[in-house]
Amino acid sequence: MTTSKRPAPPPAHAKLAPSASARWIPCTGSIAATEGLPAEAPSEFAAEGSVAHEVAAYCLKNDTQAVDQVGNVMEHDGFEFTVDDEMAEFVQVYVDKVRTRKGEKMIEELFDLREVYGVDLQFGTGDAITMDVEAKQIIVDDLKFGRGVIVYAEDNPQMYSYGAGALVLLDMLGDWETVKVAIHQPRCGHYDEHVITVQALKEWMSDTQKSAREAIDLIGRSDEEIAAHFVAGPKQCQWCPLKGTCPAAAAFAHATVFDDFNDVTQDTPMATKNPTKLEPEALAVCLERLAMIGKWCEAVAEEGLRRATSDGKSVPRYKLVSGKKGARKFESDTEAEKLLKSARLKVDEMYSRKLMTPAQLEKALKKRVKLWNKILPLIVQADGKPTLVPEIDKRPALTTEASFDDVTEPDYGDLI
Ligand code: SF4
Repeated sequence: MTTSKRPAPPPAHAKLAPSASARWIPCTGSIAATEGLPAEAPSEFAAEGSVAHEVAAYCLKNDTQAVDQVGNVMEHDGFEFTVDDEMAEFVQVYVDKVRTRKGEKMIEELFDLREVYGVDLQFGTGDAITMDVEAKQIIVDDLKFGRGVIVYAEDNPQMYSYGAGALVLLDMLGDWETVKVAIHQPRCGHYDEHVITVQALKEWMSDTQKSAREAIDLIGRSDEEIAAHFVAGPKQCQWCPLKGTCPAAAAFAHATVFDDFNDVTQDTPMATKNPTKLEPEALAVCLERLAMIGKWCEAVAEEGLRRATSDGKSVPRYKLVSGKKGARKFESDTEAEKLLKSARLKVDEMYSRKLMTPAQLEKALKKRVKLWNKILPLIVQADGKPTLVPEIDKRPALTTEASFDDVTEPDYGDLI
């Protein structure tokens, strides 16, 4: 089976990627400061996401099911993937939801974002756009295939960029009153949508254009001029390639973590903020910054390792050593198996047997519905542990009593 290809990526001279808009809108200096940096090496996760998009686009364009593509071998950025049951299952969740939208659809549409950002040569791709003429609404659906960070639709500049791009493109085709932007993260079990009025989206466009022009104007200026436009913050710095070396990001992280800003090159011990003493508002601010600071810490560790491995001695008071050894494994399972069999070991002595998990059995017993239905009552599932998430999250809030039922092993996964 052949599959539809994603449209060609935006031309290389496009500077303002919608996916980086949460960074360059508040921190206009970041575009000029990252100009000329070597492109990040293609990642397997991103390539897998592109393949999932191809599978989804094919389904939506050809009215097929994702399962029909199981077994297809697809390549992206040099990585090869075989579409498996798991990928098909998650893609189908997105496809099914998009199919519930009423109206004509455009799939994998390349937007011209000139009018949105107010500068030339800017582009973006909308995964699925639906024109619900009756409801006077444009719907923009976006598939994010990663397992990582949960993303919300409200005040999301990437989603508003796509929404505004769709609005400009379809302006003459309807009497649009609202734009719905929706994020699908099927592998996180997360879906979120937000409806914005056309009026509010146009106001957002007007504000964004000021940042876009400033970001482009700064390209080629002096380092001082560019640095004067660095604005650090929890969202923009988190994914910025400069976060490990940017003075504004370092100042932001230090101001959050330490009681007073201390000069890190001095010996005076730094007093860290005591979380138990923080006023509620200050605690909320620190929580909002956790993810960015976590990423900044990772970037500092990476930069230290990079310098140490490049000349072996460029980080004072640190040295390179050999890290923890990996887990022991057989160089060849076949060879080991052969030897153990020749020593006449019993099956129980050589192999360990484990019952399949409910998820594995569900897959294996797809065609044995009766048996699977008998197994269902045997399955139990623990409630999720109390998790602190931003108010914007659509999950119902727990009552205080329930929240404190089980805090022995709280889950911080959505925060850091
Ligand atoms: S790390 Fe933060 S402040 Fe520095 S350039 Fe990047 S986004 Fe701007």
